Amino acid sequence: MTILLGCIADDFTGGTDLAGMLVQAGMRTVQLIGVPDGPLPDDVDAVVIALKSRTCPAADAVAESLAALDALREAGCLQFYFKYCSTFDSTPDGNIGQVAEALLQALDSSFTIACPAFPANGRTIYKGHLFVGDVLLGESGMRHHPLTPMTDANLVRVLQQQVRGKVGLAETSVVAQGADAIAARFAELREQGCRYAVVDALSNSDLMEIGAACATLPLLTGGSGLALGLPENFRRIGLLAPHAAAGALPATGGWRAVVAGSCSLATRQQVARMREQAPSFHVDPERLADGADLVAEALEWAAAHGGGAPLLLYATSTPEAVQALQARLGVEAAGALVENALAAIAQGLVKLGVGQLIVAGGETSGAVVKALGVRSLRIGPEICPGVPWTSAMLDGAAPDGAARPLALALKSGNFGAPDFFLTAWEELA
Ligand code: ADP
Repeated sequence: MTILLGCIADDFTGGTDLAGMLVQAGMRTVQLIGVPDGPLPDDVDAVVIALKSRTCPAADAVAESLAALDALREAGCLQFYFKYCSTFDSTPDGNIGQVAEALLQALDSSFTIACPAFPANGRTIYKGHLFVGDVLLGESGMRHHPLTPMTDANLVRVLQQQVRGKVGLAETSVVAQGADAIAARFAELREQGCRYAVVDALSNSDLMEIGAACATLPLLTGGSGLALGLPENFRRIGLLAPHAAAGALPATGGWRAVVAGSCSLATRQQVARMREQAPSFHVDPERLADGADLVAEALEWAAAHGGGAPLLLYATSTPEAVQALQARLGVEAAGALVENALAAIAQGLVKLGVGQLIVAGGETSGAVVKALGVRSLRIGPEICPGVPWTSAMLDGAAPDGAARPLALALKSGNFGAPDFFLTAWEELA
């Protein structure tokens, strides 16, 4: 089986977002965490290699992205996709332009597009300007981002600062005329010496037409929305079957548990809702800081309460409590203390027999996935926008020492409705 689409994402949750989009559009997809050191799976239509290359030095981002590209090329992928944030998170030093340029060169190609639009989440592009909801990117909250403040909504100008090749624009009036007109505009821009085209997009139907116009480009760059139109290209030439069950995951039994380390508003509401209805254990960060062995306490508690209703183990606190701990330990040390404890708890829970696990919090998810030794996630059904169920094979986790699947939902702190922890299980077979 050929892997059709090889993707490189510049961060972990961005990779999951893209992978979920591909599954919904009918491609069986696996997400790999970091550049793989072995062969890629051969029973999927798309692979997403998730890097942590958004804000590292540009040279490192380029090197890692090229290593990921090598792995994808070795697996025979037919088309390549560089996924970045829908708010084009980058600085004049990179890394979007630099990585795109390196990938173009490695693929011996002379043209690609840049389209971070994600209309379902309010990211649209009009006359080359990126809007976040009703405001221009540079007037949105992104202007205050601590690492990649975005102060200019003009993507042609922003990208041009990061690359040497010329950047052009395929504007709304062209996109509205459909795939053939868009492809003709790309040809025109190439003739004018452009190496990149920022592409306007206001709706999912625009993204479908743009996708169709990109069928023969070796490399695409964009947010996750641009992926919407790609599966249809492969279907049109008979390479992709209409997989009704692109998101089917191996069945998992076992106990159910939620580990929450996010203190974001949505997670606080979800914790409060679940505490009313399920057994819960507070991983009290102040007690952790006092040196209490809360990992042992939590696992003892879980052993006594597991097997029935899903368990909730949470460090989630109010902003005041977070500030107090940060004042006591320092921001980084406070975060690491809680993350390490929750990761050890997640590890212990799996040993106790948890087979279906929700983790709340981006950094917390990263710590848990690392502690569990997860290198690859099969992407399953969507729970809510941006959060799919996934499945990881854990080596040696079964009682007989064999590999065992673990169903994992990694929830970004601010995603999901208040009853997320109670209802997410319904999406599992
Ligand atoms: P989100 O996705 O909401 O940003 P993250 O897991 O990425 O969630 O970040 C939350 C951070 O806060 C983690 O580093 C976690 O360990 C830390 N944390 C959780 N509870 C507390 C607390 N009570 N005090 C200080 N830090 C905390």
